[in-house]
Amino acid sequence: MATINSNFLKLKAGYLFPEIARRVKAYSEANPDKAGRIIRCGIGDVTEALPPAVVKAMHEGVDELANRSTFHGYGPEQGYEFLRQAIVDNQFANLGIEADEVFISDGSKCDTGNILDIFGKGNRTGITDPVYPVYVDTNVMAGNTGDANDNGAYEGLVYLECNAANGFVAAPPCDKLDLVYLCFPNNPTGAVATREQLEAWVKYAQENDTIILFDAAYEAFIQDSSIPRSIFEIEGARDVAIEFRSFSKNGGFTGVRCAYVVIPKTVTGKSESGERIPLHRLWSRRHSTKFNGASYPVQKAAAAVFSTEGKEQVAALIEHYMGNAKLLRETAQALGLQVFGGVNAPYVWVGCPAGLTSWDMFDKMLEEAQVVITPGSGFGAAGEGWFRISAFNSRANVEEVCSRLKALVS
Ligand SMILES: *Cc1c(COP(=O)(O)O)cnc(C)c1O
Repeated sequence: MATINSNFLKLKAGYLFPEIARRVKAYSEANPDKAGRIIRCGIGDVTEALPPAVVKAMHEGVDELANRSTFHGYGPEQGYEFLRQAIVDNQFANLGIEADEVFISDGSKCDTGNILDIFGKGNRTGITDPVYPVYVDTNVMAGNTGDANDNGAYEGLVYLECNAANGFVAAPPCDKLDLVYLCFPNNPTGAVATREQLEAWVKYAQENDTIILFDAAYEAFIQDSSIPRSIFEIEGARDVAIEFRSFSKNGGFTGVRCAYVVIPKTVTGKSESGERIPLHRLWSRRHSTKFNGASYPVQKAAAAVFSTEGKEQVAALIEHYMGNAKLLRETAQALGLQVFGGVNAPYVWVGCPAGLTSWDMFDKMLEEAQVVITPGSGFGAAGEGWFRISAFNSRANVEEVCSRLKALVS
């Protein structure tokens, strides 16, 4: 009989979003009269249509495939040059990043999980708490942890607590990490790291030989020009950081699927014999062995995000979502709740009213207001007592959520 990867058995059964879906379904079945009123601000998924420039480019890509003379079969595994160059020119201008340091993929979820393929065992890995669950679960699957304790914290991971006192931005720890996941603007808390905070992390990484895995999926939501959009804006980051970016949240590609990893050739890890090996080389090998390229029409569509019309249309989408974030943020503040995020990020992170746990608040919002939020404790023990409201919605829905929240809390 085939044995299994028993690390999977360590995973906590109730992954956050299935549990949310289960409770919403149970409520809807028990309350059919209320089911139609439910507004979902739970999962961080975009809601608005693709920008017209993107749709046009995707159609053109499909038309090329429909004609023998312009047909494309397998493309380069690393992604088409036209897209990688557009990314470098538009997202990393003057940051010293080259087009061959960019790897196109079908999503940052996959990339942030798959990256563990190129790292060895026994790395001391830091994750923030609360955190995007993918970083944790992929480390569990890869065998980098022991079992979880009652709080859901896995033995072998170093949890960096984020809380109201540190503004949900963890400072580098005193002890040495080999790898650390940072995500700014943050999901779930909406926190952003200042230049000084990122400089402290890069300095820490240089001093401790740490690799920073920097998830910048939400960079497009940064409104404040003093906040870095890329870790590579920080001097020295080229030697210590890998950055993950996605078209999911700026271009609305959650259902289209396109993202990329930036691995400077100067970032290295250590072989068993102590030799420094560029991670770029390993990821290139991994990517071309296990991935056959994102689809051609999708890469055409992604490049259109950087066209003149594309940029304007994406800016309008961001403005729409950030208008929602502002309404949600101000409503929660006016109710006297503690609020983080919602300024340079599409998530508003709200303290539960006194005495309520995150799941209590989830149930209360569902049962009394028919609004689906995300319980903070689902992102880690330090998220207990908080909940996340997503700004990805129509304006009408957000206004309705605000009025229901007012009726519920005040
Ligand atoms: C949405 C999101 C991503 C992007 O994931 P895709 O697989 O590219 O859709 C990456 N990181 C975080 C933290 C996210 O919330």
